Amino acid sequence: MGCLFCEIAEKKRPAKLIYEDELAVAFEDINPQAPVHCLVVPKKHISTSLEIGKEDNALVGHLFQVANKIAKDRGIAERGFRLVMNCNPESGQTVFHIHLHILGGRIMHWPPG
Ligand code: 5GP
Ligand code: ZN
Repeated sequence: MGCLFCEIAEKKRPAKLIYEDELAVAFEDINPQAPVHCLVVPKKHISTSLEIGKEDNALVGHLFQVANKIAKDRGIAERGFRLVMNCNPESGQTVFHIHLHILGGRIMHWPPG
């Protein structure tokens, strides 16, 4: 039972990588929902946000730092963008390896669907 995002992080599956460091990767979403739609993924496998432990606090903070850098690089930081982490099926989570969605480049609506 392979994990899709572990495989992308380990370069066993192709993706349009836009960022990598020792803790995380970021790549373009395969089915973008906005002009900018990237995913920030920790190299450590954590299946849902419910499984984030105290030992992961710095790692999760790092995911936000990476997302902020990408938002600035893509020119959407000042206009505004949305960071989303779905948890479990009713939220829409389909890949059970945590990831931050970065969505931007258009007006976002609230409440989300
Ligand atoms: P979730 O629904 O779990 O919050 O988000 C999963 C996201 O991963 C979706 O936006 C989906 O389009 C994206 N995705 C699923 N499979 C792949 C893939 O193989 N490659 C890439 N780049 N994105 C994927
Ligand atoms: Zn994984």
